Amino acid sequence: MIHMLRSEFLPYSSPLIAEDEINEVTDTLRSSWLSRGPKTAEFERQFADYVGASHAIAMNSCTAALHVALIARGIGPGDEVITSPLTFAATANTIIHCGAKPVFVDVDAETGNIDPSGIEEKITNKTKAIVPVHYAGQACDMDRIIGIARKYGLFVSEDAAHAIYTTYKGRMIGGIGDATSFSFYATKNLCTGEGGMLTTNDDSIAEKARVISLHGMSKNAWNRYDKNGSWYYEILYPGFKYNMTDIQASLGIQQLKKLEHMQKAREAYAKRYNEAFAGVPGIITPKEIPGNRHSWHLYVIQLDGNQIRIGRDRLIEELTKRNIGTSVHFIPVHLHPYYQERYGYKKGAYPVAEHMYERMVSLPLYPKMRPEDIDRVVDAVTGIVRENR
Ligand SMILES: *Cc1c(COP(=O)(O)O)cnc(C)c1O
Repeated sequence: MIHMLRSEFLPYSSPLIAEDEINEVTDTLRSSWLSRGPKTAEFERQFADYVGASHAIAMNSCTAALHVALIARGIGPGDEVITSPLTFAATANTIIHCGAKPVFVDVDAETGNIDPSGIEEKITNKTKAIVPVHYAGQACDMDRIIGIARKYGLFVSEDAAHAIYTTYKGRMIGGIGDATSFSFYATKNLCTGEGGMLTTNDDSIAEKARVISLHGMSKNAWNRYDKNGSWYYEILYPGFKYNMTDIQASLGIQQLKKLEHMQKAREAYAKRYNEAFAGVPGIITPKEIPGNRHSWHLYVIQLDGNQIRIGRDRLIEELTKRNIGTSVHFIPVHLHPYYQERYGYKKGAYPVAEHMYERMVSLPLYPKMRPEDIDRVVDAVTGIVRENR
């Protein structure tokens, strides 16, 4: 028993859900409005304000938001969309859902973000959009990306699944590109269980996105069961069932209130990791670009194979033995069987992303952790690395 307590499993991730969230959800359940309704509208307004965008459209996932953004811009069969290979597959899958082809550009070795210097050579007359991913919660080089996009008339749809709270040159992510998609999945910095948000400053994209994300129904169809609503609607597009519910929005409203507080914990813990690993040969800590604010969605270390004898897989095994959960972000998308078979992508095609992937481990980092949990991870990682010099 005592041994069990000492080495209690530390999960890779765990959401911070407290009485505020529970009460807000209960209030919604008692109100009887369970689908998209007043709380979703309230969450959208608050979120738009928070990121400084003129529109926010709540959806049931970031995947849905990424898909809707491209459809709203009219991207379809025959088109090509440029993105990063170092991302969750949904970023590229949604390009395929539109009928378009994902074209990858390798990442920068220091940040894991798409390397702008590789974008122009991949642009063809079929290219319609760029989907940059703010890897781990650090902003991409948006000035260069938007500069290229304007030059070639491309749409910029940001994957900000990691990047709530992230700033780029003092501006919040969410109001910079043409459209930005956020995730509220259970592991993300703000969590509604499942959920996502599309933000934009473009009135036409916003209007289309609203329609596309709710069956393609004409405006305001969501309140058709309300006293002020109308039974009548028109289908303007064969849309999707991608709307958020008021149950999810209840979580979102309360999570947004404590976001700054939760982010302070992430910042403090990232700093604690950085300082503890600074002098340890064999561990490469995440590189921060000065002037931008990192959301610390992920804390990814890299192993330096010249300094230590164990690889990523062994480190994960050893940490698991010590009851510490870890993860890997990400298996580069072009290495997945579907992408290899359908598009002929081969191992070696994106060497920087592959090199990072082979050496990377994501360590637990979330507000619910206690400082001593961070220290436990530090001791375990440094111990394993030292034993394997
Ligand atoms: C989590 C994640 C997504 C998908 O978010 P969902 O809300 O689960 O659809 C997309 N892109 C990246 C980079 C992610 O980490």
